[in-house]
Amino acid sequence: MDKQQQMGGDISTPNRTREIVARYGFSFKKSLGQNFLVDRNILHKIVGAADLGPKDGALEIGPGIGSLTEQLAKQARDVLAIEIDQRLIPILGETLTPYSNVKIVHGDVLKLSLNELLTEYLGDCERISVVANLPYYVTTPIVMKLLEERLPLQNIVVMIQKEVADRMAADPGTKDYGSLSIAVAYYCEPELVTVVPHSVFIPQPNVDSAVIKLKVRDKPPVEVEDEAFFFEVVQAAFAQRRKTIANNLLARFYGKGERARLEKILESAGIDPTRRGETLSIHEYARLSNQIRGSL
Ligand code: SAM
Repeated sequence: MDKQQQMGGDISTPNRTREIVARYGFSFKKSLGQNFLVDRNILHKIVGAADLGPKDGALEIGPGIGSLTEQLAKQARDVLAIEIDQRLIPILGETLTPYSNVKIVHGDVLKLSLNELLTEYLGDCERISVVANLPYYVTTPIVMKLLEERLPLQNIVVMIQKEVADRMAADPGTKDYGSLSIAVAYYCEPELVTVVPHSVFIPQPNVDSAVIKLKVRDKPPVEVEDEAFFFEVVQAAFAQRRKTIANNLLARFYGKGERARLEKILESAGIDPTRRGETLSIHEYARLSNQIRGSL
């Protein structure tokens, strides 16, 4: 770390952020989810939750003008930041000048091959975590891409809409529990880090925010014979939340005359056919999907 780095930039203060934005004549694009974080305490909470050591790498999605990137650069060995907005690339070139361990890639995270980029830029790091204040219009697709591509990640620490964080971390039997909670539980252990007020952003978003930590599992907590089919069963079970599990599954996988057969399958999986999808645990879904698959 050189002297300039030790002094620590302060991209994240409201004044510095406003100064940078004004100097470059930058106008925020709502369509790209551009709400910049201007609070050091929250930044420290995010970076702290990621538990980065000096040999670790960080992947940031959407660095904006670099306020979180700067804090990551101080903690991690290498930082790779992917930004879609071309107008921010020269700004980042200036704000992150003191940090030689940061690589900025211009592109849409949903379209890039993350595995290749991680190998190329963070290949020498011991462990890799994703740390980001995500653009809210694509939160779920981004998190699902990170999980489904089975990237070699340790933690995913992201600021997202509070409502989505609640759904990701929800337990069975609660109103927030759904297919997203099960997908997240399949790949990781979720933990709500903190709820964040609107006032820490420029401009302020009109939804509440939260920081969530997803500790990526070495292997799923259940054994399913066919992963894609397991997720199909979960989707089908929540197709109409007010319907029973039997009715939702009947509509998706069986003909009308097959109710008795389906009820038998549910019972042999230990599941009362009158229950609703939101009451089933991930273990029950795993058992059920294995049984249904065997029956089709
Ligand atoms: N990290 C900065 C901060 O905390 O102040 C900015 C966060 S802002 C909520 C989201 C950032 O993601 C913006 O810089 C936006 O341009 C960028 N972004 C939006 N969609 C993206 C995409 N598909 N791929 C990469 N970056 C994207």
